[in-house]
Amino acid sequence: MSNNSFPHESFDDLLAANAEYQKTFKYSGLTGSAAKGLAIVTCMDSRINPLSVIGLRSGDAKILRNAGARVTEDVIRTLVLATYLLNVNRILVMPHTDCKMAENDEADFHKLIDEQYGVNTSSLEFRTSRDQRGSLASDLNRIRSYPLLREGVVVAGAIYDVKTGTIEPFEG
Ligand SMILES: [Zn+2]
Repeated sequence: MSNNSFPHESFDDLLAANAEYQKTFKYSGLTGSAAKGLAIVTCMDSRINPLSVIGLRSGDAKILRNAGARVTEDVIRTLVLATYLLNVNRILVMPHTDCKMAENDEADFHKLIDEQYGVNTSSLEFRTSRDQRGSLASDLNRIRSYPLLREGVVVAGAIYDVKTGTIEPFEG
């Protein structure tokens, strides 16, 4: 067996679930454009189901996720494409409560990984910030002031509460 063969032992539960999914698949008519004109930038946290939170479904929105819902170069790149080519005319940046990325300093994570795994990750910037609201404000500003974003796109922030499911509009 080559090293490139599909690792069934790790993924067969997913393939089985997909076999069921196909049976009632109902999205074949969708296009790649965002039907509701929305892009949402949120955290990778597994407690967040971004579409359900705002009453949307497949086809409605572009979803960009990373650790901490930070607006990185790659997020900007994707938003530029989405606003010109994929019908996105509003962007919601949505970090959340109880986020590990907002409860630790950059150095804490490097130290933790080094201690537990003996791996030096200091060449990576994790973009953690204990000032979650301050980071959100600067990330929103980063999008709003980006010269190549399509004109007229509306940008907003909100904080998702993982304990109640509430999103709090961010005024900042
Ligand atoms: Zn998070």
